[in-house]
Amino acid sequence: MRGAVLYAPGDVRVEEREDPRILLPTDAIIHLSATCVCGSDLWPYRGVEAIKRPAPMGHEYVGVVQEVGSEVKNIKPGQFVIGSFFASDNTCEICQAGYQSSCIHREPVGGLGAQAEYLRVPLADGTLVATPDTPSDDLIPSFLAASDVLGTGWFGAVAAEVGPGKTVAVVGDGAVGLLAVLAAKQLGAERIIAMSRHEPRQKLAAHYGATDIVTERGDEGVARIKELTNGLGAHSVIEAVGTQESMMQSIRSTRPGGHVGYVGVAHGVELPGEELFFSHVHLHGGPAPVRRLLPELIDLIWNRQIDPGKVFDLTLPLEQAAEGYQAMDERRAIKVLLNP
Ligand SMILES: [Zn+2]
Repeated sequence: MRGAVLYAPGDVRVEEREDPRILLPTDAIIHLSATCVCGSDLWPYRGVEAIKRPAPMGHEYVGVVQEVGSEVKNIKPGQFVIGSFFASDNTCEICQAGYQSSCIHREPVGGLGAQAEYLRVPLADGTLVATPDTPSDDLIPSFLAASDVLGTGWFGAVAAEVGPGKTVAVVGDGAVGLLAVLAAKQLGAERIIAMSRHEPRQKLAAHYGATDIVTERGDEGVARIKELTNGLGAHSVIEAVGTQESMMQSIRSTRPGGHVGYVGVAHGVELPGEELFFSHVHLHGGPAPVRRLLPELIDLIWNRQIDPGKVFDLTLPLEQAAEGYQAMDERRAIKVLLNP
């Protein structure tokens, strides 16, 4: 099969990879209908995050089940399925508490390389969720978004305790930030402040329910949020970048007693204990337990109540994955869908 492999920073190639096969009786093989490039793929692409190379890339996937192992009971060949970036058994105590991305048996799908034609999914019964029937083609981008960015933005909103009547600020205007806006709207937020300085992204944020746009960042961004909230700060802030600046901007934009949901993968973030102590801000976040949210998200997409697939503003054949990485790296594209 064909698949994307990272050889060196800035060097992604699509080449022949070995066809995946069932290795454990709990595995499934799926034929991918669509896959994509993630903001977090850019960290190793830029050489900021060291990984063992050459590395098969990609952890977002939707597709049709081709084959299942002998112990797979619920997932069946022919089903259209969605899974997340961590395979999970969905039965251990941690999974049952809703933290499937910390499952005691979790396996990262990223190492298996979902930017490809086929993918082996471990712990298929716990990991995959099937749609009610085969979806029409126009819904596939939205289901693909549910595999990571929608689930991650949604978890950010849940972790930030977004709810009716609340003012929410979203730091980061990548796909996760934009879908955190969508989630905040769905969860009943009264006011949603999107922090973005890029016009196409501001427009999409407004489409998803942002009521205010703040273009300033850092201390000036914090000051703008305070101005918009009677000097108090937002009730809920979703951090969707993962840098020191964005994390501090999020904490300082939150009112005492408020909540930060941080879902940008942290790189070099160090929190000042004293400031944190006196801030009275709740912090919760981490790798989103997308599996917890999938049934609800699939239902909303199937019934066309949300359209998260709009974050894909560039679609390319898998063969042109390198161009997809470049477009996202240069911020020419919000998110790139790859057609295997
Ligand atoms: Zn588990």
